[in-house]
Amino acid sequence: MDNQNVILRVEDLSVDFRVNRKTTLHAVRDLSFEVRQGETLGILGESGCGKSVTCMSILRLLPEKTTAFPTGRILFQDKNLLTCSYRELKEIRGKDISMIFQEPMTSLNPLFTIGDQLMEIVRVHDPHIHKADAREAAMNAIEKVRIPNPERIFASYPFTLSGGMQQRVMIAMALLNKPKLLICDEPTTALDVTIQAQVLDLMNRLKEESGTSIIFVTHDLGVISEMADRVMVMYGGRKCEEGPMTEVFSQPLHPYTKGLIGSHPNQEETRSRLVTIPGSVPSLADMPKGCPFHNRCEAAMECCKQEFPKETVIHAEHKAFCYLCGEEESNG
Ligand code: SF4
Repeated sequence: MDNQNVILRVEDLSVDFRVNRKTTLHAVRDLSFEVRQGETLGILGESGCGKSVTCMSILRLLPEKTTAFPTGRILFQDKNLLTCSYRELKEIRGKDISMIFQEPMTSLNPLFTIGDQLMEIVRVHDPHIHKADAREAAMNAIEKVRIPNPERIFASYPFTLSGGMQQRVMIAMALLNKPKLLICDEPTTALDVTIQAQVLDLMNRLKEESGTSIIFVTHDLGVISEMADRVMVMYGGRKCEEGPMTEVFSQPLHPYTKGLIGSHPNQEETRSRLVTIPGSVPSLADMPKGCPFHNRCEAAMECCKQEFPKETVIHAEHKAFCYLCGEEESNG
């Protein structure tokens, strides 16, 4: 792998939540991955698998020092984001790395117009910019995300816009300072299917234009197949499988990935019935020992209950964490 090409490298990230003096919950365990220049890495898994905690850790948005305790390294341009100063972090947030959340209204300030909020972002990273230039940059951003009647939107308050429009505004905000990395946490989950398709299309187009790398978090296989170049599947705070999107979808190795794909309706196939994964994701307080998937896995063996499996490298780009994957490989 060409190191020059890597924009973000996460090494052995673990995130513990200290609930009280006696209870520590492990939200993310020993997670390593990287994001390359200009690619979209999809992070896939059901709710509660650690996807959002992973993303929030990158920008240190978790309540550190009181509840959340991340360890490991998150390297962005040779800087460890987990240990850098808040001043350095403030420089990076919104400029080099931006984030879009599922609910745009939680990120938009209801008391200010869209124009004011966009101009404020420009000013935070360029305090000496002239007001007219900040306005122009804000208008350009609105036009880029194809919002009709940009003048009206500029003067509007967030609550007057539809969910789809609000999310377009969030994309405009996130891309305003041309970030190197955009983290999207279920950005289209709250939208209608047709609006979702428009927003995904817009994001793909903007990515092509700007070369921004994207981490795209979702539980939706259809969405990830539209967006991702590579995919990382998570379960129980751990990585299960990682590889090129088309290969993971056509030749999934981990039983959890197989279950997710089998339970997703595919328009091109005429499967008589969908497969379901028995049970549900355990809560952090009930996370089983060993492979966290073992109490839902039909192939679970005794060893699965004792120890989390080591990584099986299928080839440099495709890896999985399952005792069976190693067997399949050695059996040829
Ligand atoms: Fe199933 Fe064991 Fe593989 Fe986990 S390690 S997915 S329990 S076979």
